[in-house]
Amino acid sequence: MSKEFLIATHNMKKRDELYRILSPLGIDVKTADQLGIEITDVEETGETFYENALLKAQSGCDESGMPCVADDSGLAVDYIAGAPGVYSARFSGGHGNDEANNKKLLKILADVPVEERTARFVSVVCCVFPNGDVISARGECEGYIGFEPKGDGGFGYDPVFMVGDKSFAELSPEQKDALSHRGNALRLLAEKLTAYFG
Ligand code: IMP
Repeated sequence: MSKEFLIATHNMKKRDELYRILSPLGIDVKTADQLGIEITDVEETGETFYENALLKAQSGCDESGMPCVADDSGLAVDYIAGAPGVYSARFSGGHGNDEANNKKLLKILADVPVEERTARFVSVVCCVFPNGDVISARGECEGYIGFEPKGDGGFGYDPVFMVGDKSFAELSPEQKDALSHRGNALRLLAEKLTAYFG
């Protein structure tokens, strides 16, 4: 399978992860910048990860005329009933202020014992084709919220998301990909795409 796909994201860290995981699986992904085209930053009005991933992939496909892959992802913390969920990027107000988001989460959980700090990352990836076909996959990664930020890799909630005794931000990119929600979703998507192309 050697087909070119547009990746609909302006988040460079996310783009790097999508590229790193999909390229070795034979899926050639390019950003709008790399293709020399412009795509609209879609408003994420959906109530689920699937709805938002579909909105982004559909819009990218409509605007480019190419198959388009998009991810919508976030963190679900059990103590606060699955929040911030689809609002993960906007948890502390403005869009994508990682430091403020982590600070707010640590403050809410300040007195919560470790056994009640369970959480999971969720990623839903969608691929929309110009003929209207849609292929999607969901991946999760279980962990817990630490008591302080640790490590300087990754992005978003990585410094506070713990798997065992390490935060995601303390893992190498390859270690994170092997465990992560996005890695799990993209590996499943790649299997489905391989079956789709026969
Ligand atoms: P999206 O662009 O609407 O999918 O926003 C996803 C938000 O969820 C990001 O801004 C991060 O706050 C969080 N998030 C998703 N995936 C990850 C990850 O792999 N590590 C850390 N934070 C993540």
